[in-house]
Amino acid sequence: MKELAFQSSPRNINIFFLPRHLQRFWGASGYFWQTQWERLLSTFESNEWILFIIGTALVPGLCFWAFNGLLLVVDTTGKPNFISRYRIQLGKNEPVDPVKLRQSIPTVLFNQTMISLPMLVIFYPLFKWRGDPCCRELPTFHWFLVELALFTLVEEILFYYSHRLLHHPTLYKKIHKKHHEWTAPIGVISIYAHPTEHVVSNMLPVLVGPLAMGSHLSSITVWLSLALIITTISHCGYHLPFLPSPEFHDYHHLKFNQCYGVLGVLDHLHGTDIMFKQTKAYERHVLLLGFTPLSESIPDPPKKMESPLGPSGLFPHK
Ligand SMILES: [Zn+2]
Ligand SMILES: [Zn+2]
Repeated sequence: MKELAFQSSPRNINIFFLPRHLQRFWGASGYFWQTQWERLLSTFESNEWILFIIGTALVPGLCFWAFNGLLLVVDTTGKPNFISRYRIQLGKNEPVDPVKLRQSIPTVLFNQTMISLPMLVIFYPLFKWRGDPCCRELPTFHWFLVELALFTLVEEILFYYSHRLLHHPTLYKKIHKKHHEWTAPIGVISIYAHPTEHVVSNMLPVLVGPLAMGSHLSSITVWLSLALIITTISHCGYHLPFLPSPEFHDYHHLKFNQCYGVLGVLDHLHGTDIMFKQTKAYERHVLLLGFTPLSESIPDPPKKMESPLGPSGLFPHK
């Protein structure tokens, strides 16, 4: 199937049912991307491993820090207000504790430079063995979409089960507790984790898919960048308009024993989202298509009981 996809020229992709505008963008660009890629290949001729590291570590890493840089401004200053008003856990990280943040950043940087980077260097020969990540011909847009869907599926399965395993009391105490120090997470906390967790639960679930498929570097770069941006969104603590809902994983950080997966499919199958489905957070777990914060349009019910937890058991009182 892959061979077939590689053979079909970018002009033939309109035979497939794809989102029209994206397809047109890709088709209209003709051989633009192909030319850019060939230029890169000739620049890194005989040093393809450098190109591989740039595509798998540097580009996704820059995407991560560019996005998180913006979020950190909001977290530390509470400004601009049009973003901070979308906060999920009201009263938390307003502003973020600077000491806690300063203590967490080194772990994030350690995981990126001392775990992810060497891991990608080790994975390079494996990718070469599975296919040719730096193949001259770019995959078609259609094939790229098929791959994205498969990578997402593999990530959901591997992340869900490895994450659930990390909640086993022994493993939790030794490994996963670190990631859960943040009950109200922020973007950078997405990769604030014990090194073992970073390998097993963060890196492997996103690398196994591309490795199994023997994917092209272009697909791997886009996928890893997307995965980092999406995990940042799910930890950022703001339910922003027109972006995927972070309510699911935010609830996991709040309650610990609910919502282990990424998509929620396996949580639904295993019933590990039953409590979540009874909350306001679940009602808010939608793609926000307007500018009214969901905490305003779907507010918590008025205070009924004076428990240490909030009215819905969701938001602890200040
Ligand atoms: Zn998390
Ligand atoms: Zn967890």
